[in-house]
Amino acid sequence: MDTLNPAIVDIGPEGLSLSCTATGTQLGLDEPEERFQGPLAIQAELVRQEGPITVTGTLEGTAIRQCVRCLTDYSDPLFVTLYAEYLPQAGVATKPAPVEQGRKGSRRAAEPVEPDEEAAEEDEVYLYQGDHLDLVPMVREQVILAAPMRPLCREECLGLCPQCGQNLNERRCGCPPEQGPSPFRVLRGRQSKGGNA
Ligand SMILES: [Zn+2]
Ligand SMILES: [Zn+2]
Repeated sequence: MDTLNPAIVDIGPEGLSLSCTATGTQLGLDEPEERFQGPLAIQAELVRQEGPITVTGTLEGTAIRQCVRCLTDYSDPLFVTLYAEYLPQAGVATKPAPVEQGRKGSRRAAEPVEPDEEAAEEDEVYLYQGDHLDLVPMVREQVILAAPMRPLCREECLGLCPQCGQNLNERRCGCPPEQGPSPFRVLRGRQSKGGNA
């Protein structure tokens, strides 16, 4: 993964372009739910100016996800936009707001700061030590953030029959319509009420 550990001296006045492929494992994406079909293609542009080193780029590949309704694996095209700012570790230790360098004295109560905006900025700020950047943790985090909370094989997925477990996308099972409280509904009630049953 040398490509994802660029030397800072290699970032010239015109910036530095990187491109490589990596497996999920090489990026530290090896949880059971983090599966990929083939390699992930990464491209990045590094720009170094007065302040932070800015990294923009993309990651493309194919994720394998499990549908939450029918529990079937499906492939999900992945296109992740990468963006990060890298600051040297040393300059940050004593200053809680490294992004505001050069504007000392302007941080007063009178200056309103949008909390959301500030939080978003902090998410994108990474620290580096020494003379290389390590882009792997940033790429890993942005792939994780791009994953859907509730993966669905398709929007109209019919899911599994709650009685016999048949995948209803494949065929109907002929179970009689449900009567009385279904186990599914009971479960929901428990979740929302906090269990007084
Ligand atoms: Zn499904
Ligand atoms: Zn059924």
